Amino acid sequence: MSAIGHQAMEMRQCAFCGKRIAAHLNQCPFCREMVPQVRLSRTSSGAGRVQIRRGLLYTLLAGVIYYFAAGYAKPLEIPVTIQPAVIHYLAPLLFLSGLGLSLHGLIQKAKS
Ligand SMILES: [Zn+2]
Repeated sequence: MSAIGHQAMEMRQCAFCGKRIAAHLNQCPFCREMVPQVRLSRTSSGAGRVQIRRGLLYTLLAGVIYYFAAGYAKPLEIPVTIQPAVIHYLAPLLFLSGLGLSLHGLIQKAKS
C-alpha cells in the first residue's frame, strides 16, 4: 500500500466537528472535544468460543482416527495400511492437543 493509503488508515473523523484527526488522539485539536478510542473487542468475546469448538473437533477427529486405525470397526476395514505410530502416538497426541486447546479456550472465555 502507498504512503497515502497508510496515512489515511491512521486518520479518523471527529464525531463532533467532522474534521479528520490522527487516530491516536483522545482529544480533537479543532473543537477540543474528547473523542473516545474505538476498540473493536470482537476477539475477546469470540476467541474463546472458537477455540473450545475447534479443540472439541480435534478430540472427535482423534477418536474417529483411533477407532478406525486400531481396528475397532472390525467388519469395516480401511484399504490402506496404517502405521502403528499413528495409533500409539499421533492419535493420542491429537486428542490431547484438542483437549488442551479447548481448555485454553475455556480459560480465555473465563478471563474475558
Ligand atoms: Zn472535532
